[in-house]
Amino acid sequence: MQGPNSHGPRQFSPLVRRINRDAHPLFSFKSHRSSGGNVIVPRQPRPPDTLKFKDDGTFKIMQITDLHVGEDQHTWWGRFQDLLTKSTQNFLLDRELPDLAIFSGDLITAHSINNTERVTHYWAKALKPVIDRGIPFASTFGNHDADDGALNTRHRLMEFDMKQSGSWTREGPRDIEGLTNYVLPIYDSSGEKVQVLLYVMDSGDSNDDRISKAQVKWVKSTAKEWKDKMGRHLPSLAFFHIALPEYKKIWACDKTYGLKDDVINTVRDNNGLLDLFRTINTQGVFVGHDHGIDFCGDEKGVLLCYGRHTGYGGYGGWMRGTRMVQFRGEEWKTWVTTERGQVIPLDRAEEHIPSRSDCEEWREAEERKGSK
Ligand SMILES: [Zn+2]
Repeated sequence: MQGPNSHGPRQFSPLVRRINRDAHPLFSFKSHRSSGGNVIVPRQPRPPDTLKFKDDGTFKIMQITDLHVGEDQHTWWGRFQDLLTKSTQNFLLDRELPDLAIFSGDLITAHSINNTERVTHYWAKALKPVIDRGIPFASTFGNHDADDGALNTRHRLMEFDMKQSGSWTREGPRDIEGLTNYVLPIYDSSGEKVQVLLYVMDSGDSNDDRISKAQVKWVKSTAKEWKDKMGRHLPSLAFFHIALPEYKKIWACDKTYGLKDDVINTVRDNNGLLDLFRTINTQGVFVGHDHGIDFCGDEKGVLLCYGRHTGYGGYGGWMRGTRMVQFRGEEWKTWVTTERGQVIPLDRAEEHIPSRSDCEEWREAEERKGSK
C-alpha cells in the first residue's frame, strides 16, 4: 500500500480531512521518528509485578479514553482509523512513558463488530501498544464496549483483559452493579507501603448508565478497610467512563480549565458518591464519554476532570490526546498531551468563567428535575 503522503488531499474523503495531517504522527515522519515512535520497541518487555512509585518519588498515570477500536470495520475508513488510533497511542506512550495506563471505557465499538466472538480481537488491538511496552494497565467499561450492554460480552472481555500481560483489571464484587469496580493500591518506591489508592469503577452500559447505591456503599466500605489498615485515608483518585452530574454544575457555576465543545452527558444520579469522595480523601475524578471535552474544575475540594479523546474511532474531529496525572509524593498534577506533542497543564488550558445567568439556568433546571 502506498503511504498516505503520496495522495493529494483531494483524494481523501471528507472524513479523512478531519485529521490534522500536519499533526498526526502517521503523516509526519520527522516528528514520529524524533519522538521515538519509529524506533523498534522490544516485544513485550515484562511489566513490573507491583504498582509502585519510581525511585525519584513520582508515579505517572496515562488516561486512555474512548479508542472505539473496531468501529465501521466494513469500510476502509474504519480500518484506517484503527491504524491512526494505534499510532496515536504509540506516540503518546513513547512521549510520556507512564507507570500505569488506565483505559476509561469505550475501548471498542461493539455494535460495529457483528460477531461477539470477535470483540476480544479488537480489545487486544486496543491494549497492544501498552502491552508491547510492558506498561501495566487497568481497564474499565464504557457504554460501547458491549453491544446493548450484553453481559456475556462484558464478562468475556473482562476475563480476556485480566489474562493479558500487565493487566491490573479486576472483577468487582458480584452483588453490585457493573463488573469492573476495584481499587488499585500504589506502593511507595520501596514497594513496602501503600501511598495512593485508585478507584476504578464501572459507570454502566448503554441501557443503564449510573453509579448505584450499592457501588457507593462498596466505595465506602473499601475506603474504611484501607483506613483501618493505614490509620488514615490515603490520597486517592477515581476513574470511570461517564461523568457525574456535578460536571454540569461546575461548567455552569464555577471556573473550569480546558476544552468544552460538546454536550455534557452524565450518569442519572451519583447517589452521594462525590460527597463520599470528599470524606475519604479522593481528590480527583477522571471520566471520558463526551469526546469534545477535556476540562477540569474544582467541586468543593475534588477536581473533576475529563480525559482527552484518544482514539480515532467514535464521533468528533478534535485533536486527539491523553490526560496525564503525575504524583510526586502525595501531591499530584494533571495535564493534557496532544497527538501533536503539545503539553497543556491546567494553568495553560483555556479558562472558562460562566456568567451568573448560566448558573441560574442550571439551578432552575435542577429544581425542575427535583420537582418531577
Ligand atoms: Zn466514546
